[in-house]
Amino acid sequence: MTFAKNLRCKECGIDYPLEKRTACDECFGAVGVIYDYKAACKTFTAAEINKREKSIWRYRELLPVHEIKNQVDFHAGFTPLRKCKGLGKLFGLKNLYLKDDTTNPTGSFKDRPVTIAVSKALEWGYSTVGCASTGNLAGATSAAAAKAGLDCNVFVPSQLDDGKIIPTLVYGANIIAIDGTYDQINRIANLVAEKKDWALVNINVRPYYVEGSKQLHSRFVNSWIGNSQII
Ligand SMILES: *Cc1c(COP(=O)(O)O)cnc(C)c1O
Ligand SMILES: [Zn+2]
Repeated sequence: MTFAKNLRCKECGIDYPLEKRTACDECFGAVGVIYDYKAACKTFTAAEINKREKSIWRYRELLPVHEIKNQVDFHAGFTPLRKCKGLGKLFGLKNLYLKDDTTNPTGSFKDRPVTIAVSKALEWGYSTVGCASTGNLAGATSAAAAKAGLDCNVFVPSQLDDGKIIPTLVYGANIIAIDGTYDQINRIANLVAEKKDWALVNINVRPYYVEGSKQLHSRFVNSWIGNSQII
């Protein structure tokens, strides 16, 4: 169950269905997911959330994936808050905490947005996902794809260090190494994805991908820390 209603253009405000779309037809502005917060507030309470498993999907009402069977979970999130005394002193803060997202399964916060993007690809019936990346996003996408049982193709710069690409290989993704700048690789990835009908998490599934990042935005985290919730 989700309270996601539609996509809305961030520039001109036109609404679109929750479809595979990244830009507005009228003004080429970026589109974002809109929720029915009023309806969500009635059933989506702290007491209810506390009863649920410690997974990103305990917040499923405010994430844009409809059915539980498509909600891929490779255990992103619930990373620790670390008290940083020395750094706090530097800023004159007594209680400075940093959220340690390096403890995510592939070692970066990318595991959060990828969880949502790959779930959306599964919901839409895609058999292949991927991304354009210099390493971090490639590792996260290949891990989520492995969990979801989808094929994964990642586009990376050919000069990438081995250390940056080994995690991706471990999860069994295909690597497409391209001589070029990151911008050029992004453009090629986009063209290939359109031709092959692949869902690329940071390109053609991007409005849904960013919904996974919002958990780290301060407003969202603060509202839950008030209830001893750490996402
Ligand atoms: C993280 C990210 C990338 C790629 O990051 P890498 O560190 O190069 O893997 C690309 N696009 C978006 C939108 C991202 O969030
Ligand atoms: Zn618009």
